[in-house]
Amino acid sequence: MATRILIIEDEEKLARFIELELMHEGYEVDKTVDGREGLTMAESGKYDLLLLDIMLPGLNGMEVLRRLRKTSQMPVIMVTARDAVMDKVSGLDMGADDYITKPFSIEELMARIRAALRKQQNIKSEETPSGMLSCGKLVLDSLRHVAEYDSKPIELTHREFMLLKVLLENKSIVLTREILLERVWGYDFYGETNIVDVYIRYLRSKIDDAFGVKLIHTVRGVGYVIKDDAQ
Ligand code: CA
Repeated sequence: MATRILIIEDEEKLARFIELELMHEGYEVDKTVDGREGLTMAESGKYDLLLLDIMLPGLNGMEVLRRLRKTSQMPVIMVTARDAVMDKVSGLDMGADDYITKPFSIEELMARIRAALRKQQNIKSEETPSGMLSCGKLVLDSLRHVAEYDSKPIELTHREFMLLKVLLENKSIVLTREILLERVWGYDFYGETNIVDVYIRYLRSKIDDAFGVKLIHTVRGVGYVIKDDAQ
């Protein structure tokens, strides 16, 4: 899957220029001029990196970063017209990964994006050296794209696999239908949360029912969680 970058920038010409350059380099790009909308998009978890302008209408970049860091450790590169040391210090303090001051060369921006993505990749591979996720005897190998229960293979469609992966990445954490919908289906399915219930049923029949266990739990009025009560 292509690397996805979100740009929150209210100078539309500049945003368009960066977007074209990034697309030329093979990145998938979305952009918005509004801080508040940008925060919601960034929180969806579907982007690999955020380019964040500081001076924005709605919600300024610092505030977007502060709120985003409550739920996400995605790489963030702050962008600003002001060459102010204060911005730089407070941006990095608040958890920005890097900082670039306008005007900048596109080559410099590209180099910083690559560096931030590399850093993130290293963190990820240290966390899960083999791409293995598990819950009780259920094991999912995201590199080999296979799932097994007690070493017996489970046949999953791509969508079922993605849903199971998101559940396992958040083991013992309750996820709402909206979050699952965004992470597994993306924005195209916005509002159609009943599709989540349908796919949870598929997973239950292939895992819980097939192996006589109870791993996928419904939390009434909230959403779903995968956990192994026997552990
Ligand atoms: Ca601006």
